[in-house]
Amino acid sequence: MTCKLLVVDDDEMIRQFLRTAAQGLGFEVSTASSAETFRTIFNEQQPDIVLLDLIMPGTDGVELLNYLAAMHCTVPVVLMSGLEGGAIRAAIRLGEAHGLRIVGGLEKPFDMSTLKETLGEFRQERMELSQSNLTEALENDEFRLHYQPQVHAESGQPRGFEALLRWEHPDYGLLLPAYFLSLAEESGFITSLTRWVVRQSAAQLVQWCPAELGLTMSINLSIHDLHSPNFPEWMDQAVRAEGASPHDFVLEVTEREASDDPERVLEVLTRLRLKGFQLSIDDFGTGYSSLSMVQRAPFNELKVDKSFVLESEHDSDADVIVRMVVNMGHTMGLRVVAEGVENERALRRMREVGVDIIQGYHTGRPMPASSCAQWLNMAFAGKQTARPAEQTARPAEQIARPAEQTA
Ligand code: C2E
Ligand code: MG
Ligand code: MG
Repeated sequence: MTCKLLVVDDDEMIRQFLRTAAQGLGFEVSTASSAETFRTIFNEQQPDIVLLDLIMPGTDGVELLNYLAAMHCTVPVVLMSGLEGGAIRAAIRLGEAHGLRIVGGLEKPFDMSTLKETLGEFRQERMELSQSNLTEALENDEFRLHYQPQVHAESGQPRGFEALLRWEHPDYGLLLPAYFLSLAEESGFITSLTRWVVRQSAAQLVQWCPAELGLTMSINLSIHDLHSPNFPEWMDQAVRAEGASPHDFVLEVTEREASDDPERVLEVLTRLRLKGFQLSIDDFGTGYSSLSMVQRAPFNELKVDKSFVLESEHDSDADVIVRMVVNMGHTMGLRVVAEGVENERALRRMREVGVDIIQGYHTGRPMPASSCAQWLNMAFAGKQTARPAEQTARPAEQIARPAEQTA
Protein backbone atom coordinates (compact mmCIF):
# COMPACT_ATOMS: atom_id res chain seq x y z
CA MET A 1 0.00 0.00 0.00
CA THR A 2 2.35 2.72 -1.19
CA CYS A 3 0.97 6.25 -1.19
CA LYS A 4 2.57 8.78 -3.49
CA LEU A 5 3.04 12.17 -1.92
CA LEU A 6 3.98 15.26 -3.91
CA VAL A 7 5.53 18.11 -1.90
CA VAL A 8 5.63 21.58 -3.45
CA ASP A 9 7.75 24.11 -1.63
CA ASP A 10 10.45 26.52 -2.75
CA ASP A 11 12.40 26.13 0.48
CA GLU A 12 15.03 23.42 0.15
CA MET A 13 15.18 22.73 3.88
CA ILE A 14 11.45 22.26 4.14
CA ARG A 15 11.44 19.93 1.14
CA GLN A 16 14.19 17.87 2.77
CA PHE A 17 12.38 17.74 6.10
CA LEU A 18 9.11 16.72 4.49
CA ARG A 19 10.78 14.15 2.29
CA THR A 20 12.53 12.44 5.18
CA ALA A 21 9.54 12.69 7.50
CA ALA A 22 7.00 11.41 4.99
CA GLN A 23 9.26 8.61 3.82
CA GLY A 24 9.54 7.59 7.44
CA LEU A 25 5.77 7.39 7.49
CA GLY A 26 5.77 5.03 4.52
CA PHE A 27 5.02 7.51 1.73
CA GLU A 28 6.75 7.51 -1.61
CA VAL A 29 7.78 11.17 -1.90
CA SER A 30 8.43 13.45 -4.88
CA THR A 31 9.27 17.11 -4.46
CA ALA A 32 8.90 20.17 -6.64
CA SER A 33 10.43 23.58 -6.08
CA SER A 34 8.57 25.49 -8.78
CA ALA A 35 5.15 25.63 -10.35
CA GLU A 36 6.52 24.20 -13.55
CA THR A 37 8.11 21.13 -11.98
CA PHE A 38 4.94 20.69 -9.96
CA ARG A 39 2.81 20.54 -13.11
CA THR A 40 5.15 18.04 -14.77
CA ILE A 41 5.38 15.73 -11.76
CA PHE A 42 1.67 16.03 -11.08
CA ASN A 43 0.82 14.84 -14.57
CA GLU A 44 3.49 12.18 -14.84
CA GLN A 45 3.29 10.59 -11.45
CA GLN A 46 -0.35 11.06 -10.47
CA PRO A 47 0.27 11.47 -6.75
CA ASP A 48 -2.21 10.25 -4.13
CA ILE A 49 -1.83 13.39 -2.03
CA VAL A 50 -0.39 16.87 -2.57
CA LEU A 51 1.28 19.04 0.06
CA LEU A 52 1.29 22.58 -1.29
CA ASP A 53 3.07 25.69 -0.07
CA LEU A 54 0.90 28.76 -0.52
CA ILE A 55 3.75 31.15 -1.13
CA MET A 56 6.26 30.46 -3.89
CA PRO A 57 8.40 32.82 -5.91
CA GLY A 58 6.91 33.59 -9.29
CA THR A 59 3.58 32.05 -8.46
CA ASP A 60 1.33 31.53 -5.51
CA GLY A 61 -0.67 28.70 -4.06
CA VAL A 62 -3.88 30.16 -5.37
CA GLU A 63 -2.64 29.90 -8.92
CA LEU A 64 -1.68 26.27 -8.31
CA LEU A 65 -5.08 25.62 -6.77
CA ASN A 66 -6.68 27.05 -9.91
CA TYR A 67 -4.50 24.73 -11.96
CA LEU A 68 -5.53 21.68 -9.90
CA ALA A 69 -9.18 22.68 -10.23
CA ALA A 70 -8.80 23.04 -13.99
CA MET A 71 -7.26 19.53 -14.07
CA HIS A 72 -10.31 18.24 -12.14
CA CYS A 73 -7.95 16.99 -9.47
CA THR A 74 -9.67 14.65 -7.00
CA VAL A 75 -6.69 13.77 -4.81
CA PRO A 76 -6.51 15.27 -1.31
CA VAL A 77 -4.55 18.51 -0.96
CA VAL A 78 -2.90 19.82 2.20
CA LEU A 79 -1.98 23.52 2.23
CA MET A 80 1.04 24.94 4.05
CA SER A 81 1.95 28.50 4.82
CA GLY A 82 4.22 30.59 6.95
CA LEU A 83 1.48 33.20 7.26
CA GLU A 84 -0.77 33.06 10.27
CA GLY A 85 -3.84 30.83 10.26
CA GLY A 86 -6.25 33.27 8.62
CA ALA A 87 -4.46 33.03 5.26
CA ILE A 88 -4.59 29.24 5.25
CA ARG A 89 -8.25 29.21 6.20
CA ALA A 90 -9.07 31.62 3.38
CA ALA A 91 -7.11 29.47 0.89
CA ILE A 92 -8.87 26.32 2.16
CA ARG A 93 -12.24 27.94 1.55
CA LEU A 94 -11.16 29.05 -1.87
CA GLY A 95 -9.90 25.56 -2.79
CA GLU A 96 -13.14 24.03 -1.59
CA ALA A 97 -15.14 26.54 -3.57
CA HIS A 98 -13.21 25.26 -6.62
CA GLY A 99 -14.37 21.74 -5.81
CA LEU A 100 -10.96 20.55 -4.54
CA ARG A 101 -10.56 18.17 -1.62
CA ILE A 102 -8.56 20.23 0.84
CA VAL A 103 -7.90 17.87 3.74
CA GLY A 104 -5.80 20.08 5.97
CA GLY A 105 -3.82 23.24 6.54
CA LEU A 106 -0.36 23.31 8.11
CA GLU A 107 0.86 26.52 9.64
CA LYS A 108 4.67 26.74 9.49
CA PRO A 109 6.61 25.95 11.51
CA PHE A 110 4.86 22.69 12.24
CA ASP A 111 6.28 19.75 14.10
CA MET A 112 6.49 16.11 13.28
CA SER A 113 3.42 15.14 15.27
CA THR A 114 1.22 17.66 13.41
CA LEU A 115 2.48 16.32 10.11
CA LYS A 116 1.87 12.75 11.22
CA GLU A 117 -1.61 13.61 12.28
CA THR A 118 -2.45 15.26 8.96
CA LEU A 119 -1.01 12.50 6.80
CA GLY A 120 -2.33 9.82 9.12
CA GLU A 121 -5.87 11.09 8.60
CA PHE A 122 -5.39 10.66 4.91
CA ARG A 123 -4.09 7.11 5.05
CA GLN A 124 -7.26 6.05 6.80
CA GLU A 125 -9.02 6.27 3.46
CA ARG A 126 -6.74 3.69 1.97
CA MET A 127 -7.32 1.09 4.63
CA GLU A 128 -9.65 -1.71 3.97
CA LEU A 129 -11.00 -3.10 7.19
CA SER A 130 -13.81 -5.57 7.56
CA GLN A 131 -15.81 -7.25 10.27
CA SER A 132 -13.76 -10.45 9.92
CA ASN A 133 -10.56 -8.41 10.48
CA LEU A 134 -12.00 -7.24 13.78
CA THR A 135 -12.88 -10.77 14.87
CA GLU A 136 -9.41 -12.00 13.96
CA ALA A 137 -7.82 -9.06 15.74
CA LEU A 138 -9.59 -9.98 18.96
CA GLU A 139 -8.57 -13.63 18.57
CA ASN A 140 -4.98 -12.60 17.83
CA ASP A 141 -4.84 -10.27 20.82
CA GLU A 142 -4.20 -7.16 18.72
CA PHE A 143 -6.35 -4.76 20.74
CA ARG A 144 -4.69 -2.54 23.34
CA LEU A 145 -5.88 -0.13 25.96
CA HIS A 146 -4.24 3.22 26.50
CA TYR A 147 -5.05 5.08 29.66
CA GLN A 148 -5.50 8.83 29.93
CA PRO A 149 -5.17 10.41 33.37
CA GLN A 150 -7.87 12.55 34.96
CA VAL A 151 -7.01 14.93 37.77
CA HIS A 152 -9.01 16.93 40.28
CA ALA A 153 -9.16 20.51 39.00
CA GLU A 154 -8.33 22.22 42.28
CA SER A 155 -5.72 19.96 43.83
CA GLY A 156 -4.22 18.51 40.66
CA GLN A 157 -4.27 15.12 42.39
CA PRO A 158 -5.07 12.02 40.31
CA ARG A 159 -8.69 11.04 40.06
CA GLY A 160 -8.27 8.05 37.78
CA PHE A 161 -7.93 7.08 34.13
CA GLU A 162 -10.06 6.75 31.05
CA ALA A 163 -9.41 3.54 29.13
CA LEU A 164 -9.18 4.21 25.39
CA LEU A 165 -9.16 1.45 22.83
CA ARG A 166 -6.45 1.00 20.20
CA TRP A 167 -5.77 -1.66 17.61
CA GLU A 168 -2.21 -2.73 16.99
CA HIS A 169 -2.73 -3.60 13.35
CA PRO A 170 0.00 -5.79 11.83
CA ASP A 171 0.13 -3.68 8.63
CA TYR A 172 -1.18 -0.25 9.57
CA GLY A 173 0.34 0.19 13.01
CA LEU A 174 -1.46 1.51 16.04
CA LEU A 175 -4.96 2.58 15.06
CA LEU A 176 -7.16 5.02 16.94
CA PRO A 177 -10.85 4.17 17.49
CA ALA A 178 -11.86 6.59 14.71
CA TYR A 179 -10.47 4.04 12.25
CA PHE A 180 -12.49 1.04 13.33
CA LEU A 181 -15.16 1.98 15.86
CA SER A 182 -17.96 2.67 13.40
CA LEU A 183 -17.31 -0.69 11.75
CA ALA A 184 -17.50 -2.36 15.15
CA GLU A 185 -20.69 -0.45 15.98
CA GLU A 186 -22.40 -1.22 12.67
CA SER A 187 -21.74 -4.92 12.95
CA GLY A 188 -22.57 -5.14 16.67
CA PHE A 189 -19.06 -6.52 17.29
CA ILE A 190 -18.58 -3.64 19.70
CA THR A 191 -20.28 -5.65 22.46
CA SER A 192 -17.44 -8.20 22.33
CA LEU A 193 -14.94 -5.36 22.42
CA THR A 194 -16.63 -3.77 25.42
CA ARG A 195 -16.34 -7.04 27.30
CA TRP A 196 -12.67 -7.27 26.50
CA VAL A 197 -12.17 -3.64 27.61
CA VAL A 198 -13.98 -4.22 30.89
CA ARG A 199 -11.93 -7.29 31.86
CA GLN A 200 -8.67 -5.75 30.79
CA SER A 201 -9.17 -2.38 32.50
CA ALA A 202 -10.46 -3.97 35.70
CA ALA A 203 -7.39 -6.19 35.94
CA GLN A 204 -5.20 -3.16 35.28
CA LEU A 205 -6.88 -1.01 37.92
CA VAL A 206 -6.39 -3.67 40.55
CA GLN A 207 -2.77 -4.05 39.57
CA TRP A 208 -1.89 -0.32 39.76
CA CYS A 209 -4.02 1.07 42.44
CA PRO A 210 -4.42 -0.05 45.99
CA ALA A 211 -8.14 0.37 46.78
CA GLU A 212 -7.40 3.04 49.42
CA LEU A 213 -6.25 5.46 46.72
CA GLY A 214 -9.82 5.45 45.45
CA LEU A 215 -8.83 5.91 41.81
CA THR A 216 -11.47 5.36 39.16
CA MET A 217 -11.45 3.71 35.76
CA SER A 218 -13.65 5.32 33.13
CA ILE A 219 -14.68 3.20 30.18
CA ASN A 220 -16.75 3.99 27.11
CA LEU A 221 -19.89 2.00 26.46
CA SER A 222 -21.76 1.63 23.21
CA ILE A 223 -25.48 1.98 22.78
CA HIS A 224 -25.46 -1.72 21.82
CA ASP A 225 -24.30 -2.63 25.32
CA LEU A 226 -27.21 -0.69 26.75
CA HIS A 227 -29.72 -2.68 24.73
CA SER A 228 -28.73 -5.93 26.39
CA PRO A 229 -30.79 -6.76 29.50
CA ASN A 230 -28.03 -9.07 30.83
CA PHE A 231 -25.37 -6.41 30.63
CA PRO A 232 -25.61 -5.05 34.22
CA GLU A 233 -25.32 -8.54 35.70
CA TRP A 234 -22.43 -9.42 33.42
CA MET A 235 -20.62 -6.18 34.31
CA ASP A 236 -21.01 -6.77 38.01
CA GLN A 237 -19.59 -10.27 37.80
CA ALA A 238 -16.82 -9.33 35.39
CA VAL A 239 -15.30 -6.54 37.49
CA ARG A 240 -15.66 -8.54 40.72
CA ALA A 241 -13.96 -11.52 39.08
CA GLU A 242 -10.90 -9.30 38.59
CA GLY A 243 -10.98 -8.15 42.21
CA ALA A 244 -12.37 -4.67 41.44
CA SER A 245 -15.61 -3.09 42.61
CA PRO A 246 -18.38 -1.50 40.51
CA HIS A 247 -17.84 1.72 42.50
CA ASP A 248 -14.40 2.08 40.91
CA PHE A 249 -15.91 2.30 37.44
CA VAL A 250 -17.29 5.27 35.60
CA LEU A 251 -19.30 4.14 32.59
CA GLU A 252 -19.33 6.76 29.86
CA VAL A 253 -22.23 6.90 27.49
CA THR A 254 -22.49 8.98 24.33
CA GLU A 255 -25.64 9.47 22.39
CA ARG A 256 -24.09 9.38 18.98
CA GLU A 257 -27.00 7.55 17.54
CA ALA A 258 -30.53 7.84 18.79
CA SER A 259 -31.67 4.63 20.45
CA ASP A 260 -34.69 2.93 18.99
CA ASP A 261 -35.52 1.63 22.45
CA PRO A 262 -34.88 4.43 24.95
CA GLU A 263 -36.89 2.73 27.68
CA ARG A 264 -34.64 -0.29 27.65
CA VAL A 265 -31.54 1.92 27.69
CA LEU A 266 -32.92 3.74 30.70
CA GLU A 267 -33.61 0.45 32.45
CA VAL A 268 -30.10 -0.91 31.82
CA LEU A 269 -28.52 2.37 32.98
CA THR A 270 -30.61 2.38 36.13
CA ARG A 271 -29.68 -1.20 36.94
CA LEU A 272 -25.98 -0.45 36.40
CA ARG A 273 -26.29 2.50 38.77
CA LEU A 274 -28.07 0.34 41.37
CA LYS A 275 -25.19 -2.10 41.21
CA GLY A 276 -22.85 0.74 42.17
CA PHE A 277 -21.35 1.75 38.82
CA GLN A 278 -21.00 5.48 38.26
CA LEU A 279 -22.50 6.87 35.09
CA SER A 280 -21.15 9.64 32.94
CA ILE A 281 -22.58 11.36 29.91
CA ASP A 282 -19.72 11.80 27.45
CA ASP A 283 -19.24 14.42 24.72
CA PHE A 284 -21.99 16.49 26.24
CA GLY A 285 -23.42 19.05 23.89
CA THR A 286 -22.91 17.07 20.70
CA GLY A 287 -25.37 14.18 21.01
CA TYR A 288 -28.95 13.67 20.09
CA SER A 289 -30.97 14.05 23.22
CA SER A 290 -28.35 14.80 25.83
CA LEU A 291 -30.64 16.99 27.85
CA SER A 292 -33.49 14.55 28.17
CA MET A 293 -31.02 11.78 28.91
CA VAL A 294 -29.40 13.73 31.72
CA GLN A 295 -32.76 14.45 33.17
CA ARG A 296 -34.08 10.89 33.05
CA ALA A 297 -31.12 8.61 33.73
CA PRO A 298 -29.26 8.47 37.05
CA PHE A 299 -26.02 10.08 35.90
CA ASN A 300 -23.26 11.13 38.28
CA GLU A 301 -21.09 13.00 35.85
CA LEU A 302 -21.13 15.10 32.74
CA LYS A 303 -18.19 15.51 30.35
CA VAL A 304 -18.13 18.74 28.39
CA ASP A 305 -17.23 17.83 24.83
CA LYS A 306 -13.65 18.65 23.98
CA SER A 307 -14.65 20.69 20.95
CA PHE A 308 -16.13 23.36 23.26
CA VAL A 309 -13.13 23.26 25.57
CA LEU A 310 -10.69 23.55 22.66
CA GLU A 311 -12.60 26.38 21.03
CA SER A 312 -13.48 28.28 24.17
CA GLU A 313 -10.14 30.07 24.10
CA HIS A 314 -10.86 31.83 20.80
CA ASP A 315 -14.59 31.59 20.46
CA SER A 316 -16.79 33.40 22.92
CA ASP A 317 -19.81 31.28 21.96
CA ALA A 318 -17.96 28.11 22.91
CA ASP A 319 -16.88 29.76 26.14
CA VAL A 320 -20.50 30.60 26.98
CA ILE A 321 -21.50 27.01 26.27
CA VAL A 322 -18.82 25.67 28.62
CA ARG A 323 -20.00 27.99 31.39
CA MET A 324 -23.62 27.06 30.84
CA VAL A 325 -22.90 23.34 30.85
CA VAL A 326 -20.87 23.63 34.06
CA ASN A 327 -23.66 25.57 35.76
CA MET A 328 -26.30 23.21 34.52
CA GLY A 329 -24.34 20.16 35.63
CA HIS A 330 -23.78 21.56 39.09
CA THR A 331 -27.40 22.60 39.42
CA MET A 332 -28.36 19.02 38.67
CA GLY A 333 -25.90 17.73 41.23
CA LEU A 334 -23.48 16.32 38.66
CA ARG A 335 -19.72 16.35 38.66
CA VAL A 336 -18.36 18.15 35.60
CA VAL A 337 -15.34 16.91 33.66
CA ALA A 338 -13.61 18.96 30.96
CA GLU A 339 -11.83 16.94 28.30
CA GLY A 340 -9.45 18.38 25.71
CA VAL A 341 -7.53 20.55 28.17
CA GLU A 342 -4.38 21.01 26.14
CA ASN A 343 -2.45 23.74 27.90
CA GLU A 344 -2.00 25.78 31.05
CA ARG A 345 -4.33 28.54 29.84
CA ALA A 346 -7.14 26.07 29.25
CA LEU A 347 -6.53 24.53 32.65
CA ARG A 348 -6.80 27.95 34.30
CA ARG A 349 -9.98 28.75 32.41
CA MET A 350 -11.59 25.46 33.33
CA ARG A 351 -10.71 25.96 36.98
CA GLU A 352 -12.12 29.46 36.83
CA VAL A 353 -15.48 28.29 35.49
CA GLY A 354 -15.70 25.63 38.19
CA VAL A 355 -14.99 22.39 36.33
CA ASP A 356 -14.35 19.56 38.82
CA ILE A 357 -12.16 17.15 36.87
CA ILE A 358 -9.59 17.80 34.16
CA GLN A 359 -8.62 15.49 31.33
CA GLY A 360 -6.40 16.47 28.43
CA TYR A 361 -2.98 16.41 26.86
CA HIS A 362 -1.81 19.00 29.38
CA THR A 363 -2.12 16.71 32.36
CA GLY A 364 -1.40 13.54 30.45
CA ARG A 365 -1.85 11.96 27.07
CA PRO A 366 -3.32 8.49 26.69
CA MET A 367 -0.46 6.11 27.49
CA PRO A 368 0.17 2.38 27.54
CA ALA A 369 -0.31 0.60 30.84
CA SER A 370 3.45 0.34 31.30
CA SER A 371 3.74 4.15 31.70
CA CYS A 372 0.87 4.65 34.12
CA ALA A 373 2.59 3.60 37.33
CA GLN A 374 5.32 6.14 36.67
CA TRP A 375 2.75 8.84 35.91
CA LEU A 376 0.97 8.06 39.18
CA ASN A 377 4.18 8.22 41.17
CA MET A 378 5.02 11.62 39.74
CA ALA A 379 1.47 12.89 40.13
CA PHE A 380 1.24 11.86 43.77
CA ALA A 381 4.60 13.44 44.39
CA GLY A 382 3.07 16.70 43.11
CA LYS A 383 5.42 16.89 40.16
CA GLN A 384 2.76 16.48 37.59
CA THR A 385 1.01 19.77 38.35
CA ALA A 386 4.23 21.63 39.02
CA ARG A 387 5.83 20.65 35.72
CA PRO A 388 2.96 19.69 33.48
CA ALA A 389 4.84 20.32 30.26
CA GLU A 390 7.09 17.36 31.03
CA GLN A 391 4.11 15.12 31.21
CA THR A 392 2.99 15.62 27.67
CA ALA A 393 6.49 14.95 26.49
CA ARG A 394 6.86 11.60 28.20
CA PRO A 395 6.74 8.46 26.07
CA ALA A 396 3.00 8.40 25.93
CA GLU A 397 0.93 8.60 22.86
CA GLN A 398 3.12 10.04 20.25
CA ILE A 399 2.30 6.92 18.28
CA ALA A 400 -1.37 7.40 17.75
CA ARG A 401 -1.81 7.49 14.03
CA PRO A 402 -1.46 4.57 11.69
CA ALA A 403 1.14 6.26 9.55
CA GLU A 404 3.43 6.51 12.53
CA GLN A 405 3.92 2.78 12.66
CA THR A 406 4.83 2.24 9.08
CA ALA A 407 8.37 3.57 9.38
P1 C2E B 1 -13.91 10.11 24.24
O1 C2E B 1 -14.47 9.05 25.10
O2 C2E B 1 -14.53 11.44 24.29
O3 C2E B 1 -12.36 10.16 24.61
C1 C2E B 1 -11.59 11.31 24.59
C2 C2E B 1 -10.85 11.46 23.29
O4 C2E B 1 -10.22 12.72 23.27
C3 C2E B 1 -9.74 10.45 23.10
O5 C2E B 1 -9.63 10.19 21.71
C4 C2E B 1 -8.53 11.20 23.60
O6 C2E B 1 -7.31 10.74 23.08
C5 C2E B 1 -8.83 12.59 23.09
N1 C2E B 1 -8.18 13.63 23.88
C6 C2E B 1 -7.90 13.61 25.19
N2 C2E B 1 -7.33 14.74 25.59
C7 C2E B 1 -7.25 15.53 24.50
C8 C2E B 1 -6.73 16.86 24.28
O7 C2E B 1 -6.24 17.54 25.17
N3 C2E B 1 -6.83 17.34 23.02
C9 C2E B 1 -7.39 16.60 22.00
N4 C2E B 1 -7.42 17.15 20.80
N5 C2E B 1 -7.88 15.36 22.17
C10 C2E B 1 -7.80 14.83 23.42
P2 C2E B 1 -9.55 8.71 21.15
O8 C2E B 1 -8.73 7.85 22.06
O9 C2E B 1 -9.19 8.82 19.73
O10 C2E B 1 -11.01 8.17 21.27
C11 C2E B 1 -12.04 8.70 20.49
C12 C2E B 1 -13.37 8.17 20.93
O11 C2E B 1 -13.49 6.78 20.67
C13 C2E B 1 -13.60 8.29 22.42
O12 C2E B 1 -13.94 9.62 22.71
C14 C2E B 1 -14.73 7.31 22.61
O13 C2E B 1 -15.97 7.87 22.24
C15 C2E B 1 -14.38 6.24 21.61
N6 C2E B 1 -13.75 5.11 22.32
C16 C2E B 1 -12.47 4.98 22.75
N7 C2E B 1 -12.29 3.80 23.37
C17 C2E B 1 -13.49 3.17 23.33
C18 C2E B 1 -13.96 1.90 23.81
O14 C2E B 1 -13.24 1.11 24.46
N8 C2E B 1 -15.27 1.59 23.56
C19 C2E B 1 -16.10 2.44 22.90
N9 C2E B 1 -17.39 2.06 22.70
N10 C2E B 1 -15.70 3.65 22.45
C20 C2E B 1 -14.40 4.00 22.66
MG1 MG C 1 -15.10 8.90 26.86
MG1 MG D 1 -15.57 12.66 25.08
